[in-house]
Amino acid sequence: MITLALSKGRILDEAQPLLAAAGIAPLEDSEASRKLIIGTRDPKLRIVVVRASDVPTYVQYGAAELGIAGKDVLLEHGAHWGDRGLYQPVDLGIARCRLCVAVPVGFDYAKAVRRGARLRVATKYVQTAREHFAAKGVHVDLIQLYGSMELAPLAGLADVIVDLVSSGSTLKANNLVAVEEVAPISARLIVNQSALKVRREELMPLIARIEDAAAALVA
Ligand code: ATP
Ligand code: MG
Repeated sequence: MITLALSKGRILDEAQPLLAAAGIAPLEDSEASRKLIIGTRDPKLRIVVVRASDVPTYVQYGAAELGIAGKDVLLEHGAHWGDRGLYQPVDLGIARCRLCVAVPVGFDYAKAVRRGARLRVATKYVQTAREHFAAKGVHVDLIQLYGSMELAPLAGLADVIVDLVSSGSTLKANNLVAVEEVAPISARLIVNQSALKVRREELMPLIARIEDAAAALVA
């Protein structure tokens, strides 16, 4: 059995056409189903549905050989090429957005940075944000949140946020503006490294099909 881990919501929405093009056909509507394990038309391939931030963990420990995860999640998980048993062969080019620093309209971020002010940063991406600001030499207090980051500056919890931005309309609706990009984001196919060694003949054709489908969708 080969197990592919992915999350409902944006990743599944955008991965579905790609998986279909790669010949991976779930036996049930994965978005609607309450089942967490979903078979596919290939009896040797199944899908497990997990939280987006749990995908790297399933793949790292080999509970899933393959996974689809956002680069944001991988950065925060601390995954690098060859690190922690994860291998990231393919940028799928889906679920594209940017991880950004955003501030209330009128907050002079550049000036605050120049002055060496200590910034309170609210984010779900605490490790990634810590590395970003450390590299810039900006002193920060990090406040971990699990959702609705846009509220934090409005409620006086933080000066700035680090969050995903696509159109910017959510920021705009809350009188915030992106002032700096931390990283461009897209979804990646990740593979358990030891599975790739031991079960190469099984996994490589599947990885190649997903890779080809991703390349065709981008073209
Ligand atoms: P939950 O919503 O269950 O708390 P989540 O926010 O991690 O979890 P999603 O909102 O589906 O789940 O996001 C999953 C992934 O999709 C993110 O890790 C990111 O890579 C990508 N993503 C999130 N928001 C956007 C966006 N606005 N545009 C493009 N991709 C996005
Ligand atoms: Mg979300």
